Amino acid sequence: MRAFVLTGHGDFSQLALAEVPAPDIRHPLDVRVRLKAGALNHLDLWTVRGLPGLTLEFPHILGGDGAGIVDAVGPGVTRVRAGDTVLFNPGISCYRCEQCLAGEHSLCVEYRLLGEHLPGTLAEYVVVPEPNVARIPQLPAPHAPLSFAEAAAFSLVALTAWRMLITRARLRPGETVLIWGVGGGVASAALRIAKLAGAFVIVTSSSDVKLARARELGADVTLNHTQVDVAREVRALTGRGGADVVVEHVGEATWDQSLRALGRGGRVVTCGGTTGSALAVDVRRLFWYQWDILGSTMGNAEEYREVVRLLGQGHLRPSIDSVFPLAEARRAFERLASGDHVGKVVVEI
Ligand SMILES: [Zn+2]
Repeated sequence: MRAFVLTGHGDFSQLALAEVPAPDIRHPLDVRVRLKAGALNHLDLWTVRGLPGLTLEFPHILGGDGAGIVDAVGPGVTRVRAGDTVLFNPGISCYRCEQCLAGEHSLCVEYRLLGEHLPGTLAEYVVVPEPNVARIPQLPAPHAPLSFAEAAAFSLVALTAWRMLITRARLRPGETVLIWGVGGGVASAALRIAKLAGAFVIVTSSSDVKLARARELGADVTLNHTQVDVAREVRALTGRGGADVVVEHVGEATWDQSLRALGRGGRVVTCGGTTGSALAVDVRRLFWYQWDILGSTMGNAEEYREVVRLLGQGHLRPSIDSVFPLAEARRAFERLASGDHVGKVVVEI
């Protein structure tokens, strides 16, 4: 099959279109999907560069998110069959360990991601376990049907943002949320989820174009973080009380401001640190204000079912920035790395 692969860690000169063996059904619960679209996430850029502890066999197929048509299933599969149109949760668990049996699939001791640890979705076929697969929902009128590109762009960011805000930070209606860097996929999914949850949402970006888009998606306040002191603005907007929840994924560049913006009993929840990972906290402020500092990664099967259910009601529909053919997938990586994208970058297969 044709696939877009990484031939070794480094830069985009290591990206190539290649002919590789198609994956086979190996386990009774395997589902093989003929992919129609794959979507990129920031994680794909990290995989190109190489991550500590990540050892890959090359050529390695990139891409975590995807959508397509079921092509073959193992003998134990009952929920989908050949011909079904599907999307899937790209976080693959063992479904056997103590964490998995307790329903905490993203804490699985063997947790792996498509495109990072496992062969990814920028290919004609991918194999995923049945518990990860969901049918692409039919939306009620007057919503237009979901395209494969939209379905492919949905899963990773919606699942991540849902667990961050709803499960980990326990966001409640009427609370104030600060979301950094709203151009990013997780941040933009977090904006939709926070509005759906009835929160007052403040978002930041360095781009006025991205802030205008965030207002269309319901952001209550938009701040250009290159022009204003975000923590001071949040304090002023909340009668000096501060935000109840801060959505972090930036790390060193924003951490201090995130804590200065955080109110009493506030929760800061993070899924990454793209600008650096060494963060400091003043323990006196931590205990006095009774803050929660929360880590979050992907989500479990129940959370995935919930975000797909909401998608089926017409909520959380992803925005697409651009779509590239598989043969030009390198341009998709360049687009993502430029930071100019507004919405998800998709590869059509
Ligand atoms: Zn497990």
